[in-house]
Amino acid sequence: LITAHAVQRGVQLLPGVKNIVAVASGKGGVGKSTTAVNLALALAAEGARVGLLDADIYGPSIPMMMGIHGKPESTDGQTMDPLENYGVQVMSIGLLVPQDEAMIWRGPMATQALEQLLRQTNWNDLDYLIVDMPPGTGDIQLTLSQKVPLTGAVIVTTPQDIALLDARKGIKMFEKVGVPILGIVENMAAHVCSNCGHVEAIFGADGGKKMAAEYNMDYLGALPLDMHIRLQSDSGKPPVVADPDSEVSGLYKAVALKV
Ligand code: ADP
Repeated sequence: LITAHAVQRGVQLLPGVKNIVAVASGKGGVGKSTTAVNLALALAAEGARVGLLDADIYGPSIPMMMGIHGKPESTDGQTMDPLENYGVQVMSIGLLVPQDEAMIWRGPMATQALEQLLRQTNWNDLDYLIVDMPPGTGDIQLTLSQKVPLTGAVIVTTPQDIALLDARKGIKMFEKVGVPILGIVENMAAHVCSNCGHVEAIFGADGGKKMAAEYNMDYLGALPLDMHIRLQSDSGKPPVVADPDSEVSGLYKAVALKV
């Protein structure tokens, strides 16, 4: 699949990587990085060889979520070895610059840096490389989706109208550059009160499902708004590895099986 789509679009392929899947959202803060991390871990749990590229250049949160510290090493002065945890190979701009450094690059510099991160990392024989895209549909995102030989994209949205509106823009962007959409993940879909079990649709109900139907796209599943997801992700041990048999981990694994 990757070869067909990328060659069709004239994108230079990436040696050692079979499939590259972008995880994207039209809007920030909807849980794109959390989904990318747990999707990568779920694919690894299924036995696949997986890498995770943090392309969210202005807010690289993957190292923290993956519990990764330290600097990638280079043996030849040109390429870098990814850092690995929980069986997933990781590269992020956050591993190369101090954590509190603000990235104030303009578009062309940011895309150049991201292309380097992608192509100068020694990915070791991957079935899947998951790319956590920067949020939004501006120049950087557009250039990235043109220059990275993507197999397809997963769109993350909350059920909220404003997030859905932006997610629609994301879908249009990938359509424009000929990248297939693999499906839609609805995040923060419902909140279950840990005291009384009452279910509340804080950001609305079924928005992602309806959008998937409207665009004739696969609905990959819904994740609840769940405090454990945040706590475990913030602590560097996301649900799929912290609590592999939980309902939430099962939901992420179900998404992974559909990708
Ligand atoms: P994005 O990449 O879209 O900006 P993040 O994945 O960084 O979003 O998530 C934003 C915040 O929301 C993080 O603190 C994360 O832990 C939290 N979060 C994401 N998904 C959920 C969820 N389903 N339940 C609870 N908290 C979540």
